[in-house]
Amino acid sequence: MNVEFYGAASCVTGSCHILKVNGKTILLDCGMFQGKDEKERGNISFVFNAKDIDFCLLTHAHIDHSGRIPLLYKQGFAGDVICTEATLDLCNVMLQDSGHIQEMEMEWKNRKRERQGLEKIEPIYSAEDAASSMKLFRGYPYGKWIELFKGFKIRFNDAGHLLGSAIIEIVTEENGKETKLVYTGDLGNVNIPIINDPVNIDYADYLIMETTYGDRLHKTTENEFQELYKIIKDTFKRGGNVIIPSFAVGRTQEVIYALNKYVEKDALKDISIYVDSPLASESTAIFKRHEDVFDEEAKKLIASGDDPLAFKGLNFTKSSQESAALNKINSGVVIISASGMCDAGRIKHHLKHNLWRKECSIVFVGYQAEGTLGRRIMSGEKTVKIFGEEIAVNAEIHQLQGLSGHADRLGLLRWLEAFKKIPKEILLVHGDLDASNSFKDLLTSKGYKSRVMDNGDTYDTSGSAHQVKIESKKDRIYKLLDKLGNIDNIDNDEIVNKIKEIL
Ligand SMILES: [Zn+2]
Ligand SMILES: [Zn+2]
Repeated sequence: MNVEFYGAASCVTGSCHILKVNGKTILLDCGMFQGKDEKERGNISFVFNAKDIDFCLLTHAHIDHSGRIPLLYKQGFAGDVICTEATLDLCNVMLQDSGHIQEMEMEWKNRKRERQGLEKIEPIYSAEDAASSMKLFRGYPYGKWIELFKGFKIRFNDAGHLLGSAIIEIVTEENGKETKLVYTGDLGNVNIPIINDPVNIDYADYLIMETTYGDRLHKTTENEFQELYKIIKDTFKRGGNVIIPSFAVGRTQEVIYALNKYVEKDALKDISIYVDSPLASESTAIFKRHEDVFDEEAKKLIASGDDPLAFKGLNFTKSSQESAALNKINSGVVIISASGMCDAGRIKHHLKHNLWRKECSIVFVGYQAEGTLGRRIMSGEKTVKIFGEEIAVNAEIHQLQGLSGHADRLGLLRWLEAFKKIPKEILLVHGDLDASNSFKDLLTSKGYKSRVMDNGDTYDTSGSAHQVKIESKKDRIYKLLDKLGNIDNIDNDEIVNKIKEIL
């Protein structure tokens, strides 16, 4: 078995690993780079040929894991995308939304290019490409072994990170020898509202493990919702609004679920909450279709007659006119809007109208990747540019880290300690270098063997000992150029400039 790492290795976004087994090529996730990773690596092309991929195993619907599947399809991938049933449903709305965002961004860029006398460029993929790529998706339940071809079977286990998220067990048989690889995808935090805690795994020969918060401990979820309640009360007293930039899928539903409890207790009885994201509205409906994978507490609430994702005062805005109308409200509303890292979508309008007002509050409830608008606001910049305008950061800035959908340092270790037989080696991915290295040190001190993978690394488990071939970034670029032909034959200025920058 051979694993190559092409994304979310020494960084958090763009999850994409390639498994080579018995002559077949299997992709583990096909995510989009975001923030600084996008600037450094771009999303336009793959280092491999899309037509060479036989299967894509998808851990969950987040765009940093699924976002480049439509591009893969556009470039000739015709195999199956294997995922859970809820992931399939969520991808159906999320990928089209992503395609729509690409089209809008490209329209904006092209208007600029036209004024500069440059040729128009195409979006990475359109909403239509995304819709077409859905025909490749196959949804399976948790806990069922699926044989994809002889000597290769997989099983999905609840990762407790997002509705439908999965830890994938992969069992291969090569030359009569069985090997088990486990890929965590994103590993959930314990006690996340609505969804279950991550399932424990018995054993793995090799483990590919995420390390987003490998160097940090979270506060408990319950305290964080208490804090959110307090922020809302205080902000309303000051005459401001509460703006919550939130991932439309997952985090938004968790926040609604938590606020529902306060509304039911009458603590927030006359509150007006606007969920201003068409994607959040659609995915809330999808959540309701998959109540069978909810956790016990949520199931109990539903059985008692309370719909935990609906209450009086909770509004879902649809049209852009309804969204724009929110900008005229000065106080007393909570606006939950996407994107979660503030780089796109309606949230930018709400920040533009509320960020400069000291009576308002901005509450971050999710991870903010380096280089994103969210990260700049969170790290204390005095002004930020939104739609070309400098906006002062005067609002109160809060960060509720305990709401993270990812296990923290201790959560990752506890999950690993539940293994009955420890893996021969743990390959650490999906973390900034500091987080991954810090977690590696913890693992070493506990007697585990691990290594931090970098983009372009190859890990080979065949034979009695593995070999690891590390290629530098420069090597990889030259290899890519080899495939593309001469650099001067590439007819996209942006790509050429990007390559020259790296070289
Ligand atoms: Zn995720
Ligand atoms: Zn992720």
